[in-house]
Amino acid sequence: MSSTLDRIAALTDEASTAIENATTTANLEELRVGYLGRKAELPNLLRGVAQLPPEERGAVGKAANQARQRLEALIEERGGALAGAELDAKLVADTVDVTLPGVPSQPVGRLHVLTATRREIEDVFCGLGFTVVEGPEVELVHYNFDALNHDPAHPARSRTDTFYVRRPQSVLDAVGPDPSREVVLRTHTSPNQPRAMERQAPPIQIIVPGRVYRRDSDATHTPQFHQIEGLAVDEDITLADLKGTLLAFARAIFGDERDVRLRPHFFPFTEPSVEVDVSCFQCSGTGALPRTGARCNLCKGTGWLEILGSGMVDPNVLGMVPTGEYDPERWQGYAFGMGIERIAMLKHGVPDLRLFYENDLRFLAQFG
Ligand SMILES: [Zn+2]
Repeated sequence: MSSTLDRIAALTDEASTAIENATTTANLEELRVGYLGRKAELPNLLRGVAQLPPEERGAVGKAANQARQRLEALIEERGGALAGAELDAKLVADTVDVTLPGVPSQPVGRLHVLTATRREIEDVFCGLGFTVVEGPEVELVHYNFDALNHDPAHPARSRTDTFYVRRPQSVLDAVGPDPSREVVLRTHTSPNQPRAMERQAPPIQIIVPGRVYRRDSDATHTPQFHQIEGLAVDEDITLADLKGTLLAFARAIFGDERDVRLRPHFFPFTEPSVEVDVSCFQCSGTGALPRTGARCNLCKGTGWLEILGSGMVDPNVLGMVPTGEYDPERWQGYAFGMGIERIAMLKHGVPDLRLFYENDLRFLAQFG
């Protein structure tokens, strides 16, 4: 009897040590089969209890059972530790670097040249202290024209120039025949001048990028294009501030050597109004190409490129802000508006505006 009990004790010790030293779950499974499997010695001892003399059965059965339970518990414990370690190792080994190129490697996309140009312009003005704001593309006539001092007979109000949006009869019934409540696709980003001033007391310094719509279509006009509006209102702002700001802008976009000039113009919502030219970067403002002396094709020999319209905010526009916070006796400002397409065409020498919208990758892939 004692020899059987000794054998059980020896088997238990041997198995315990082996289980503690197991290095993988597969290794552990081999040990389980070896010590507790159907053909293993310990289960055979258990099964053989019935053949033992009756006085030995109890002690041997109990010892063999305890040994089996102890080994099962050890295997479970060691198995849990090994499985955890193996999972950790697998997770480390399986880490996916999502920044690696795909297989086969895919061509990396790029920003559309108009998006890149818009961001470039935004960066310049953000550096000058302007904040970027946005506004609705479907706009009330009030903001698109009236609040910007447009005469009731201004030609831009014409249905041949501007897209009007038909409003549901229920809305028309509610607002009545008030023409300022009519709705258009905004013809410029300028409606955000009065909108921003309604929201924010002076001083204010904003730019407004966005899509605008006009009934126009040829090599230099598309029914939809992009503008960036600028508005700065503060005390003691003069035309010199406008010129300095636009000079900084022109140099950032077209090069440090550029100069700007202001030419008198007319816009309903600025007074005085100016058109702004930048000195031609292709001929350095001379109008002639350096080596051949031929007439510069970009500026058509004038040495100047028109880039935007601007001016001092008309006191009427300030006075129309319903909050009354923009007293034109105290506050002055300047405003400007530029076409993003025009800036991109000039900067990259693109001859036809429509190329921006044809989504021809051979064209688009040249930029960026
Ligand atoms: Zn030129």
